Amino acid sequence: MTKPAKTPKLDTVGAEAVDAARAALLELVPEHDVGEHLGREAQADKVVTHFFDCTQRGYRGWRWSVTVARAPRQKVVTVDEVVLLPGPEAILAPEWLPWRERIRPGDLSPGDLLPSEEDDLRLAPAYTAADEEVDEAELKRVSDELGLGRPQVLSLDGRELAAERWYAGSHGPDTELARSAPASCASCGFLVKMAGPLGRLFGVCANAFANDDGRVVSFDHGCGAHSEARLGRRNLPQPLPEPALDTMRWEELETF
Ligand code: SF4
Repeated sequence: MTKPAKTPKLDTVGAEAVDAARAALLELVPEHDVGEHLGREAQADKVVTHFFDCTQRGYRGWRWSVTVARAPRQKVVTVDEVVLLPGPEAILAPEWLPWRERIRPGDLSPGDLLPSEEDDLRLAPAYTAADEEVDEAELKRVSDELGLGRPQVLSLDGRELAAERWYAGSHGPDTELARSAPASCASCGFLVKMAGPLGRLFGVCANAFANDDGRVVSFDHGCGAHSEARLGRRNLPQPLPEPALDTMRWEELETF
């Protein structure tokens, strides 16, 4: 277990050197940009940082930080550094994220390219010859010969990730639509079976009137457009009354 870092003791001389810290700050910064003294903090033994409000426009919550230090057995401090730092209330730019991590499903526009990474776990070479280096043309030739037609295929990781995502999403069992369905997709005539391992759990909905038409659905998903859905008695249309025929003509009416 690592020992918690010891908080340094606040040096009295350094803590009282507010005027010296302000004077050092004013040598670098115009007076109208410096506000009140906000506090002090011990940085190390005999090293103290003083904070002053920054009144520059656009720097709300930022503070000037002036660090002073005192040599052993000395009664005066010297200035170490003067910097502008964000305080707890400062408005800061959001943390930078690489562009790849910012992309969300649906962000791609026509013409955009999103190449997969070299070591993308979701993909595996369709064919590799042991540990030997295989050049791309050779790989394509071999995969064409084997009838795979693609240099890379979905890896086991890629398949598991897809299955987890699909199952947990809006085409899995845990949705309002599925919970209120009369039966599950597994027994629906509109379900198209998929080949391969993913076909053990998923199929494609081919009902033009279903919300999931053309989408992958899990066998335990479902919806009200199930092929065997029937209307219950209370959902049937109300019977219409017998039609009433009005046979009276205008001439007959005039005789009254
Ligand atoms: S119509 Fe509904 S129940 Fe049938 S496959 Fe499509 S989503 Fe599943």
